Amino acid sequence: MEHTNEMQLIFDSRSSNESFARVTVAAFMTSLNPTVEEVSDVKTAVSEAVTNAIIHGYENEVHSICIRCRTEGKTLYLEVEDTGRGIEDVKQAMEPLFTTKPELDRSGMGFSFMEAFMDRLEVFSAPGKGTTVRMEKTIGKGRRLWTTQSL
Ligand code: ATP
Ligand code: MG
Repeated sequence: MEHTNEMQLIFDSRSSNESFARVTVAAFMTSLNPTVEEVSDVKTAVSEAVTNAIIHGYENEVHSICIRCRTEGKTLYLEVEDTGRGIEDVKQAMEPLFTTKPELDRSGMGFSFMEAFMDRLEVFSAPGKGTTVRMEKTIGKGRRLWTTQSL
């Protein structure tokens, strides 16, 4: 059995917590010796998923967001969960440029970024129950070592 490491982070769905969530996941993954680019990819994905929970899931009401992280071997497994309004048509929501909030200047590219920057993306959602975004990324051989000083 390979060595695994896990953490959970539960925080209020305030946009001021988004940077804190992204930096916490970045710090958690340092044991995988990621490159600067790999850390940046994960931070972007976390940022998109958390922003979605805040503005779409909870529509700016303050409730809890839960992030679960696990490393196993060279892979980071990541889940971002809200218990908000949920998504009616997940397949449609994941299409590039699809947004239900064009009036808020959303571009509908959040899921496309998560898909592009991570190795795997799955979205589980039920209307009225909430949404879980599951992602994974396998860290390759880093050229530049990333340390907590980059925070
Ligand atoms: P952008 O991310 O480019 O600012 P966006 O958030 O609308 O725009 P996506 O992140 O791709 O685009 O999400 C597409 C759509 O999926 C959203 O417009 C919203 O309808 C729905 N959605 C995404 N995440 C959630 C969530 N956590 N809860 C409810 N609906 C969601
Ligand atoms: Mg989005």
